[in-house]
Amino acid sequence: MAKRALVTGITGQDGAYLSQFLLEKGYEVHGVIRRSSHRGVEDHRLRWLGVADRVHLHDGDLADLSSLLRTVKDVQPDEIYNLAAQSFVASSWRQPLLTANVTAIGVTNMLEAMRIGAPGARFYQASSSEMYGLIQEPMQSETTPFYPRSPYAVAKLYGHWITVNYRESFGLHASSGILFNHESPLRGVEFVTRKVTRTVAAIKLGQAQELRLGNIDAKRDWGHARDYVEGMWRMLQQEKPDDYVVATGVTTTVRDMCKIAFAHAGLDMDKHLIIDPAFFRPAEVDVLLGDSSKARKALGWKPEIDLETMIKEMLDADLERLRREPLS
Ligand code: NDP
Ligand code: GDP
Repeated sequence: MAKRALVTGITGQDGAYLSQFLLEKGYEVHGVIRRSSHRGVEDHRLRWLGVADRVHLHDGDLADLSSLLRTVKDVQPDEIYNLAAQSFVASSWRQPLLTANVTAIGVTNMLEAMRIGAPGARFYQASSSEMYGLIQEPMQSETTPFYPRSPYAVAKLYGHWITVNYRESFGLHASSGILFNHESPLRGVEFVTRKVTRTVAAIKLGQAQELRLGNIDAKRDWGHARDYVEGMWRMLQQEKPDDYVVATGVTTTVRDMCKIAFAHAGLDMDKHLIIDPAFFRPAEVDVLLGDSSKARKALGWKPEIDLETMIKEMLDADLERLRREPLS
């Protein structure tokens, strides 16, 4: 019998790559999809990876416990990957309550649905390096104290601890993956890497002139989503649930990440980059750098794709997309 996985956030970047990964492993993949008036475009990432027709989609919302309960009862999953979230830090100041309802309380909804409907399943919570915020140690590991710096990070911290608490309270197989930033050609266009590759591609094709960014001194530990979804799966294959940091151990400024993209396009960055105060945040996470030795040792996980290779892949994909469908 094929194992059954239920993925919330299946239409997002990680949901798409995880679906592809699990299908290759022979899983039956189910996902929660929220209702939209634009039926037909929500699954564009799944289509990009060629897996849209191979996954089973169930109407639901992380803020609606009854829809999650119904889905869990119908699917009877072996593994649940809770990836759904309001995931964009900058939006979390503009929509703090929605962020709390989905990114924080939504985790309890999903855990409750599992506890009631499929208590024997294994649960993965998509926690975030943003929880370290104002970093308390130069390299962040599972034991580094948290100091969240945005409504998003505060909500993720709740999600992390409620996952730990349900594991300790109810004996659920619930693990929390503290993933550092990971990107791909399927990253949302509002995140800085994709904003850069898409805009640089547009400049290259004569469809834009400038790239407007905020704090380019910020440093992130960037990996590739394809590598990171494997880390999620490996966590759920362990006999015991636990928490793991997934990171590359290399940190780079936004400025240097931009340089890679401009250089690959053969463009002069200084002619196009404009610093725009509109993109600065009320509170910033200046630097993140992950220590993933626990995951490397216990899970046998390691990243395969470095930043330069990834940015080039993203830029090439954006060039191809914009040639087909120019920015209007
Ligand atoms: P995306 O923003 O690409 O995807 C988010 C997903 O959540 C989408 O499928 C979205 O659906 C869904 N969603 C949002 N709100 C709801 C809701 N109320 N009910 C049901 N589904 C909802 O995020 P990523 O794939 O990049 O990230 C996956 C998870 O990992 C997120 O929880 C994110 O916060 C976390 N994370 C991501 C990191 C990264 O660098 N990518 C780093 C650390 C953690 P729709 O398509 O309809 O919008
Ligand atoms: P985050 O780490 O989850 O917030 O991922 P982002 O990709 O949104 O942002 C990474 C870093 O890039 C943060 O420190 C941002 O302040 C910085 N940054 C600088 N300019 C921009 C911009 O125009 N858009 C975004 N999204 N981030 C920017």
